[in-house]
Amino acid sequence: MFFPLPFVWMRDHLSVGLSASGFSSWASRSAPALGTGEIVVAHATRDGTARRFAEATARALEAGGQSVELAALGVLRPEDFRGRRALLILAETTGEGELTEGARRFLQRLTPGSLGEIRFALLTLGGRGDGALRRGDQILRGALRAAGGREAAPMARAEGEATAVWTAWLQELCVSLRLRFGGAAPDEVAAKRFRIVGRGRLDEPIRGDTQETWSLILEAETELDFHPGDILRIAPAAGGRERSYSIGSSSVVDPRLVVLTLRLHRHVDEKGALGYGRVSGELIRDTPLGGLVLGRLQQQPAFRPPADPMQPIVMIAAGSGVAPFPGFLDEREASGWAGPAWLIFGNRHRRGDFLWDERFQAALRDGSLTRLDTAFSRDADDGDYVHDRLREQANELRRWLIEDGALVYICGRREMTREVEATIAAILAESAEPMREEHRIRVDAFD
Ligand SMILES: Cc1cc2nc3c(=O)[nH]c(=O)nc-3n(C[C@H](O)[C@H](O)[C@H](O)COP(=O)(O)OP(=O)(O)OC[C@H]3O[C@@H](n4cnc5c(N)ncnc54)[C@H](O)[C@@H]3O)c2cc1C
Repeated sequence: MFFPLPFVWMRDHLSVGLSASGFSSWASRSAPALGTGEIVVAHATRDGTARRFAEATARALEAGGQSVELAALGVLRPEDFRGRRALLILAETTGEGELTEGARRFLQRLTPGSLGEIRFALLTLGGRGDGALRRGDQILRGALRAAGGREAAPMARAEGEATAVWTAWLQELCVSLRLRFGGAAPDEVAAKRFRIVGRGRLDEPIRGDTQETWSLILEAETELDFHPGDILRIAPAAGGRERSYSIGSSSVVDPRLVVLTLRLHRHVDEKGALGYGRVSGELIRDTPLGGLVLGRLQQQPAFRPPADPMQPIVMIAAGSGVAPFPGFLDEREASGWAGPAWLIFGNRHRRGDFLWDERFQAALRDGSLTRLDTAFSRDADDGDYVHDRLREQANELRRWLIEDGALVYICGRREMTREVEATIAAILAESAEPMREEHRIRVDAFD
C-alpha cells in the first residue's frame, strides 16, 4: 500500500532523533511499520527532497504493477524486510555529506547478516563530503552490505537537480530486478511569484556582534494554503539549488502574506573580500522592496501547530530558529481559545539579539503565549543556552509533557536541536512515570 503523504511525513518527522538520543523506551513501536508490499521504498529526508523522490519511485513502481511500501527509513528495522523482494533507499545528505538522523538511527539497528541477503539500491541526494567519516553515502552503502544486503544497481548520487539521476537509477534497478517501470518525475509544486512587501531588521547591532537577522514579508500573487512551520523554498535569482525557509505566518490569518525570519550569512571569500550567502544576501541586500522572488511552498504537517489549539505546546528555539513561532502564536491568537504555550528562546545578547521580542511580549499580554524563558549566551549576567534553561526547569517541563500532554517543537541549527533533544531525554529519564504517548517531540533542523 502506498501511504498517503501526510502519514509518511509524520512518521519520519515525529520520530526524529528519538532513539539516537535516548528516547528509545517511549519511542518503541507498537504497530508494524509496513504492510505486506514486496518492494520497500524508504527515504531519509532532510528538507523533503528524498521524500518527494521516494513518493515518485513508489508511484512509478505501482504504475508498473508492483506492490510497494513507502516508509521513512528512520522507523524501519531489519526484520521489516523479511520476505521482501527489494529495498530501495533514497537518502539525503547534508552539504558536508553527512547522513540524516533517520538514516543514522537505521544504521544503529543493523547487525551483520540482519538484512538476510535482500537486494537493495541506494540513491543519495545532496552533498558528497570530503573525509571518510563524512561520506554518508559510502557509510550507508557499506553498512547495508555488511548487514547482508546485495546491491541490485550501482549506488547513484545527485548533487544538484536530481530528476535525471533519479530516472537513470530507477530504470537501471528496474532492469536488474525485473520490475516494470511506469513512472514520471516527482510532482513538483509549481513555483509561485512573491513580492517583497516588508523587511525589518530584527536584531539591533548596538553591541557590535549581533547576528544580522531580518523579518521578510512576502506577498503571494494568489491566495495560498499554508501554516507556520511549512517551508518556502527559494532559488537564487540566476537559478541553482533552492534554500529552505520556515514560514512564520498562517493562511488562516492572511492567505497571501508569508513571513520569514532570515539570518544574513556572511563570509570572507578566497580573496579576503566580505561575501554574503547567495539567497540570504539576495533577499536581504540585493532585491529591492517591491521586487519579485520565486518560491515553492512545501508543507510540513508534522511541524505545524496542533490541530486542537487547546493542546499545550512548548516551543524551543535559538537564533533564527525562532522563525516559525510568531506564526504559531498568530494561529493560536486567531483561534480565540488556545491552550497554554511556553516559548524558550536563546541567542547571544538580550539587548540586540532578542528577535521578535515585541511580538512575544504582545502574545504574553493577549494570552496566546503563557510563559516565556530566555537564555542569552554572551551576556555576563546570563551565559546560558536554551538547554540550560530546560535543565533548570526540569520539573516544570515534566509537568507540561507528562501531565499536560504538551507537544514540543524544537527549531534551529542541528547542533542546538540535538543538544535540546538529549537534554529532554535526560530529564524524562529521571521521571518515575514515563511519557505515555510517543512522538510528541517535533524537530526542524536548519543545518
Ligand atoms: C528545513 C530548513 C529550514 C530553514 N529555515 C531557515 C529560516 O527560517 N531562516 C534562515 O535564516 N535560514 C533557514 N534555513 C537555512 C537556509 O536554507 C540557508 O541554508 C541559509 O539562508 C544560507 O543560504 P545562503 O544561500 O544565504 O548561503 P549559501 O550561499 O548557500 O552559503 C552557505 C554558507 O557558506 C558560506 N559561504 C558561501 N560562499 C563562501 C565562500 N566562497 N567562502 C566561505 N564561505 C562561503 C555562506 O556565508 C553561508 O554561511 C533553513 C534550512 C533548512 C534545511
